[in-house]
Amino acid sequence: MSIHRPRAVVFDIGNVLLDFSYGKTVDRIKSRCKMNEAELRELFGACDLFNRFESGELDSAGYFAEILNRTCFDGTLEEFGEMFGDIFTEVPEMVAWHEELRQRDIPTFILSNTNELSIRWIRQSYPFFKHFTGYVFSHEVGAMKPAARIYEAIEDMAKLRGPDLFYMDDREENVQGAAARGWQAVHHARPAQTIEIARSLGL
Ligand SMILES: [Mg+2]
Repeated sequence: MSIHRPRAVVFDIGNVLLDFSYGKTVDRIKSRCKMNEAELRELFGACDLFNRFESGELDSAGYFAEILNRTCFDGTLEEFGEMFGDIFTEVPEMVAWHEELRQRDIPTFILSNTNELSIRWIRQSYPFFKHFTGYVFSHEVGAMKPAARIYEAIEDMAKLRGPDLFYMDDREENVQGAAARGWQAVHHARPAQTIEIARSLGL
């Protein structure tokens, strides 16, 4: 079997570089609104409103207006932004591996289904996040993984195609979306395993 060494590494954010739990958002917001815990879990899960925010149909103000309308939250957008944004925990092995790739001048990219509030929070909270070669966010592109258009945005930015791109994502459908384009894509579960696969490809 021949090995093709990828020329760039593309990272998912959630459950790859940063673990996260909207349970923290639910815990903080529940005493400040009229929804119960189960309703809030639904609201901050993969519901239609959340997808409208992550696909860029709604900006932060538009999303917050919907949140106010549905939950009667009693605070400001700034307070909500912290409750909504402060849900992440760095995955040290993956952040260290990114730094190693950077030191070796291997281009690195972010490819994430995300939203304006989360990215604002991540930028201000995690210094490592500044140091990628490029960023493709669903809310800016107006498409979410596994839609082809968001992977094309990486290809255009990196000026690379197919097996020149190494990608990892914890969601199988997103891995398939990348693999369908010929990227070398890994279903990420544990850092050591993903990094070992990358090294076996010459990264
Ligand atoms: Mg993820």
